[in-house]
Amino acid sequence: MKASRFFISTLKEAPADAEIVSHRLMLRAGMIKKLGTGIYTYMPMGLRVIRKVEAIVREEMNRAGAVELTMPVVQPAELWEESGRFQAYGPELLRIKDRHDRAFVVQPTSEEVVTDIARQEIRSYKQLPKNFYQIQTKFRDERRPRFGLMRGREFIMKDAYSFDRDLDSAKASYKIMADAYRRIFDRFGLRYRAVAADSGAIGGDVSQEFQVIAATGEDAIVYCPNSDYAANMEKAEALAPAGPRAAATQALAKTPTPGKATCEDVAQLLGVPLATTVKSLVLATDKLGPDGELAGSQVWLLLLRGDHEMNEIKVGKVPGLDQGFRFATTAEIDDHFGCEPGYLGPLNLRKPVKMVADREVAVMSDWITGANEADFHMTGVNWGRDLPEPELVADLRNVVAGDLSPDGQGVLAIERGIEIGHVFVLGTKYSQPMNATFLDEAGKPQLLEMGCYGIGITRLPAAAIEQNNDERGIIWPDAIAPFTVVLCPIGMDRSDDVKKAAQALYEDLLAAGVDVLLDDRGERPGAMFADWELIGVPHRVVISDRGIKEGQYEYQHRRDAAATKVPVAEVAAFLK
Ligand code: ATP
Ligand code: MG
Ligand code: MG
Ligand code: MG
Repeated sequence: MKASRFFISTLKEAPADAEIVSHRLMLRAGMIKKLGTGIYTYMPMGLRVIRKVEAIVREEMNRAGAVELTMPVVQPAELWEESGRFQAYGPELLRIKDRHDRAFVVQPTSEEVVTDIARQEIRSYKQLPKNFYQIQTKFRDERRPRFGLMRGREFIMKDAYSFDRDLDSAKASYKIMADAYRRIFDRFGLRYRAVAADSGAIGGDVSQEFQVIAATGEDAIVYCPNSDYAANMEKAEALAPAGPRAAATQALAKTPTPGKATCEDVAQLLGVPLATTVKSLVLATDKLGPDGELAGSQVWLLLLRGDHEMNEIKVGKVPGLDQGFRFATTAEIDDHFGCEPGYLGPLNLRKPVKMVADREVAVMSDWITGANEADFHMTGVNWGRDLPEPELVADLRNVVAGDLSPDGQGVLAIERGIEIGHVFVLGTKYSQPMNATFLDEAGKPQLLEMGCYGIGITRLPAAAIEQNNDERGIIWPDAIAPFTVVLCPIGMDRSDDVKKAAQALYEDLLAAGVDVLLDDRGERPGAMFADWELIGVPHRVVISDRGIKEGQYEYQHRRDAAATKVPVAEVAAFLK
């Protein structure tokens, strides 16, 4: 590709509403263009990245035995009535009507359609197992679309659906997918963690999320640095269903003016006495539900180091905390508790609070007291008990990890993650209401056992940027760079030698299958380099008159501090 023919449109500044680095850099590098809230055009530069992501995902899905098809984006509501999701999905589902007033949905995923295909096409056990996938546009009317492609309303997802004859075989299909996901995310060169996620009705270890580790991630994940234990917050907390989160949510929901409850109100609602001293415990969230309740996975239990007087926390130096409950910024919390930024005690919360410093955190503390075992019973731990720290930590491990960290390999840590993939055994959740059966050896109809497997194709480049950037711009992993190599000739318009040399190297690399771009725009070196550093092409070769005379070109990797001289004759081989 030659730059003069391609479309390059870079910006010095990102729009003010772009909050996180990937969003800013994708806009500045001309990869995406906003059309409406959560709706973006994938511009030519961005689309090249997306296509590379898709190609890798497709290759590994095919390798794992999945077969590709494409299902409709607009789907008749009747199918969704059959599964019950037309109502159950809630406001995230975009429902539309045609000219005959017939209802349709725009696919947020496609379990219904694929189950409909399976119930018509899969007749015999001999056709099983099967795994169908598509890489296609999805629409979810997200409550809070933000961060560019990270949480769009229209986005591209790879969604796969497996069909099996029984649960054991479904679990085997699930494992094949989980293994394929590891291969996929390894190829992208990302730091990620596969974490246990809530598997709903099926139970057991049959749902995992793949989380790219990033400070800006919207999910909190819990892991043990010394063992294999890793889970998302919901899963970790599901082990303590009557724990403080549920209680707090309940309490706040009951409070007449949410967010304005006093400590006494909350204590009363929870039926616990308002005690004076206790080990500190803070409930923090960066996400509130529609009624001001603490919502979703974004609630953390933060155990603070040492003792704190509840009254001190309540009244404290944090303005407004004297109302017993308010929303404080993370900076205020750090300041108030005098902890190192982001450090919050035995849970080894290294980052979560600091990372959402621009958002709000709710602090509640007074109601965590030492009295009522029943209310604060989390698998045997009374949060209010005056435990020495090591014991508290040990207890906490049991609470959060439950029977999954049995080796006792150390203290659990929490970090932020971006969910880029999700694998799930569905069981008969869809096949049952939609009556999707096959005939077994005895000719008896049996329900199909299903699994579903998603990857956020357009979220992935954003996650990759969160992990790979510097003050000059993006640093793409080779596998998904819009171009792998950029050739930057200096003074191409003045020097025939440079022009010829650049053209020759360009052709040589093209012939070798290298994804190379020749920047023939005639930009000044400074502007040209700034563009490619912003866009994040990993390998750059500078061709100049002086270099030609010396018989060397300058090679620089996007991560290198300085260029290396490479003999002209060796450059092509070096890059192939
Ligand atoms: P999230 O928890 O971030 O809302 P989800 O659990 O609702 O995601 P799934 O239904 O598991 O998402 O969909 C599979 C994958 O699709 C996710 O792992 C994620 O990578 C991607 N995805 C989901 N919602 C969005 C979105 N709004 N924008 C971009 N990608 C998304
Ligand atoms: Mg979601
Ligand atoms: Mg999720
Ligand atoms: Mg998910």
